Amino acid sequence: MGDKANNSVKPPSEIIKRIWSPKGQDKELIKSAYEFAKDAHAGQKRLSGRPYFHHAVETARVLADMRMEADTIASGLLHDVLDDTDTQPEAVRENFGEEMLFLLQGVSKLGDVRFQGMRRHIESLRKLFVATSQDIRVLLIKLADRQHNMETLEHIPEDKQRRIAEETLEVYVPIAHRLGIGKLKTQLQDLAFPYVYPDEHQRTKELSKDTYEQAIDTIENLHKKLSRLLTEENAVGDFSIKYRQKGLYSLYQKLEKKGMNIDEIYDIAALRVIVESTEDCYHVLGAIHSQWQPLSGRVKDFIANPKPNGYQSLHTTVFAGDGNTAEVQIRTKKMHQIAEYGSAAHADYKKDGSSGYLDWFDDVAEKLRPNDAGADSRKDVSDWIDDLKQLEDSAEDPAEFVENLRNDIFENRIFVFTPKGDVIDLPAGASPLDFAYQIHTEVGHHTDAAKVNGKLASLDTQLESGDIVDIQTSDDQQPSRKWLEYIKTADARRKITTYLNNLRTKTD
Ligand code: MN
Repeated sequence: MGDKANNSVKPPSEIIKRIWSPKGQDKELIKSAYEFAKDAHAGQKRLSGRPYFHHAVETARVLADMRMEADTIASGLLHDVLDDTDTQPEAVRENFGEEMLFLLQGVSKLGDVRFQGMRRHIESLRKLFVATSQDIRVLLIKLADRQHNMETLEHIPEDKQRRIAEETLEVYVPIAHRLGIGKLKTQLQDLAFPYVYPDEHQRTKELSKDTYEQAIDTIENLHKKLSRLLTEENAVGDFSIKYRQKGLYSLYQKLEKKGMNIDEIYDIAALRVIVESTEDCYHVLGAIHSQWQPLSGRVKDFIANPKPNGYQSLHTTVFAGDGNTAEVQIRTKKMHQIAEYGSAAHADYKKDGSSGYLDWFDDVAEKLRPNDAGADSRKDVSDWIDDLKQLEDSAEDPAEFVENLRNDIFENRIFVFTPKGDVIDLPAGASPLDFAYQIHTEVGHHTDAAKVNGKLASLDTQLESGDIVDIQTSDDQQPSRKWLEYIKTADARRKITTYLNNLRTKTD
């Protein structure tokens, strides 16, 4: 550390050139936000030893990569000036206007949110909630901020690393997922994974190494052949083919579901064909199936039936001819953008009708018109219209989008109380044992009985929001293998497993 290159910060031009067709006023805004933040953070350093201002610029860089518009990128540059410098709200208002101040204050409010055992308080959740419903940009800035904080987590004291990484998995990843920002979601997961589950991370890495290499071989081979096929047949317009590896954390989640059997994972790597139009997507699918036998049940039409977060693509898995299978994902450029950067990019917050999201929607609508849907689509025209109708219903109202977002973030969580009234946040279906482990590992280990709302309840009772849970402990009690069936949280699972493993080592 301390070498000059390491202390340099990207110039504003680096940010500006990442903006999608920047206009004159965009450039001016970025330059002035850049200078303002640079002055405000002058002399401050991060734990990494780099200038604090570097963090502001990197946050803006993430937002630019997420295809956000200039005002959001500028708020990324300014996102820490209220909390971490002497800057007064007045100064922001004077220089950048009321809306910028509103965004920065929203980010600052979210700064209070801390998810950690007993400190998970409903008030913080409420703030997150309220801020979310007011403006999606606040969340996006917070996501970008978190992305850079995760990239630099190694410089944070060890005792804090885990909490921050856990919070990333529990809070930020679900938000990125719901906003459909696949790229950010994968990055955040993979950055957090080794800190939260070091053993599982190591195991997944080792388990997948050979399979990854083999899959890449298969895919590169298929890539060449498919590229030749599409060019020779001249069946589609411009196309490009890339491949992507499945994120390690996402792979781990899937492996857990499949009993850690890596042979059951079909999409460890996938070929991605990006074309100009929806029709071309189906042409490509047809061309692939004419050449390579598809695995039955693995063809998925997410164009006709988009995922709830807006994701669209055709997926198929084929026998690649070398004894292996390969997944192929086919999508238009627009669909690709939405998949990587989310429908929020350029989008939902726009109230003047010039929204990129709605443009995208119009484009899909255009492609799905009955006369376009004819020859090659594998569906009836009436089906297309039904699909379109559904899409229309779900996409029409930005307020509804936000409402759905709020529901999604919180619908799988319950909030229960300790006898003293502290709020504990748990996944739906959690039991008194999960609760006990949230309070303290030792409380968990020695749980003898539980009272729910004043009545004795079995340890596998499913808790509900609002329940008051009182755990009774006994020194004689200790975890048993049976307990693993009663719990829902990864935290309790890890603690019980560790305990049981230690027990075994001792008696061995
Ligand atoms: Mn920050």
